[in-house]
Amino acid sequence: MVIDGVPCDAQSGRVFERDSPGHRGKVVGVWPAGGPADAALAISAARRAFDDGPWPRMSGAERSTILHRVAAGILADLDELALIECLETGKPLSQARGEIGYCADLWTYAAGQCRGLEGDTHNSIGENRLGLVLREPAGVVGIITPWNFPFIIVSERVPWALGAGCTVVVKPSEFTSGTTIRLAEIALQAGLPPGVFNVITGYGPEVGQVLAEDPRVDVLAFTGSVRVGTALASIAAGGVKRVGLELGGKGPQIVFADADLEAAADGIAYGVYHNAGQCCISGSRLIVANAIRPALLERLLDISRRLPFGDPLGATTRFGAMVSQQHTEKVSSYVAAGVAEGAELLLGGDMVDAKSGNFFAPTVFDRVRPDMRIAQEEIFGPVLATIGFDTPEEAVALANGTPFGLSASVWSRDLETAIQTTRKLRAGRCWINSVIDGTPELPIGGYKKSGTGRELGRYGFDEYSQFKGLHMTLGRGQPWFEH
Ligand code: NAD
Repeated sequence: MVIDGVPCDAQSGRVFERDSPGHRGKVVGVWPAGGPADAALAISAARRAFDDGPWPRMSGAERSTILHRVAAGILADLDELALIECLETGKPLSQARGEIGYCADLWTYAAGQCRGLEGDTHNSIGENRLGLVLREPAGVVGIITPWNFPFIIVSERVPWALGAGCTVVVKPSEFTSGTTIRLAEIALQAGLPPGVFNVITGYGPEVGQVLAEDPRVDVLAFTGSVRVGTALASIAAGGVKRVGLELGGKGPQIVFADADLEAAADGIAYGVYHNAGQCCISGSRLIVANAIRPALLERLLDISRRLPFGDPLGATTRFGAMVSQQHTEKVSSYVAAGVAEGAELLLGGDMVDAKSGNFFAPTVFDRVRPDMRIAQEEIFGPVLATIGFDTPEEAVALANGTPFGLSASVWSRDLETAIQTTRKLRAGRCWINSVIDGTPELPIGGYKKSGTGRELGRYGFDEYSQFKGLHMTLGRGQPWFEH
């Protein structure tokens, strides 16, 4: 762990191990099993660094210089970080390399923007009055992250929190803690003062929950499942703590009859198989015009049959291993539920090469009804549910017809159709003729049960800022009591 600028073990001395999900029986990580006392120590360090330390008081320019150095440090260690990320998550090494490079860009963007964090002035509230809105850092931020994109998610939150002048305590997933620890070390080397970026490792209920409970944490930023997110939000509500939640999704991919079918088939495959389907913004529901359904499915099945998946270290691997055996079994149980409810299994549905790792075959369902579990619940695996539509109104109703609203794609050559459809979608991140695209400039976040709050862009800084209204009276105003 990293607490107050010092690498340390858990106070109990306990550790836990991570087996590579793509290489059965190989231990690829050993980390301290932190507990409440370790979390309390990290929160004390972050609190001191915020209340008395230099970081919140530095100019934006000084903070920016250090964040730029972190970005450079990430690029310098790209090979090592990508290998750790690949072995702990099971994602292909080539994909992990791309993700680490993207993370350096996230840090660079936040480094640039944090020089321009402005407040506001109100010069028309009366002749004797002037109003200022002061932007201040929100305080100590507790950040809890999941295992599917450990380095991206920590890099979508930490540079924005630090850029706003906050200090942080990060609790990465117990499956994938390695790159978050390395990131804190890189940040220290870059000149970040001790106590500003702390990392505690271990299991959620033991070490993570304290971040929701402890009143010294001002903001809780959680990315993960709806179940854990809502439980933590209700604990935080008891302390009137600000909470940002990035939760699950059930992304629709609407394909209109005029779409470029080759591009759409490629995008549908990428949308559902990327990261073995363990993506909060997966396009896991194909909502396709009935007129082109057979033609699109034929192309999609062809890609799905030829897709190289398996060993994360393989040079041509397009998707690797599932995070754990338990999760792989959960995906299997969703396939069984789909078959039992009467959906037509066109391809896959099984674990593959289970002796080597947690691998699951590309899986395509057709004739899915919108009320089936495979159409409503987040499976988090390479499993596509296909539903046909006849009218644009029907497509929008189907797309919006789940408890989630994180992402959505529309495929059409007609920009008017695409934009008018996108306007009606209740999702925080939409794409026209693409999927799983991202850039630091644009906000991300959920509608409905997919979450609250926005990350990235200039919106991301507001999550970690307080806004203070300052009323100034210029000259003597009307007396309250005449005497
Ligand atoms: P999870 O909710 O099981 O775990 C997320 C984190 O919470 C982990 O660090 C875990 O240790 C911690 N945790 C678990 N119980 C806790 C508790 N009682 N107190 C405090 N912390 C606790 O989720 P996961 O399985 O790691 O990730 C998969 C989920 O994350 C999916 O639902 C996915 O959609 C979601 N996700 C969302 C986004 C997004 O941006 N919206 C991004 C990635 C993943």
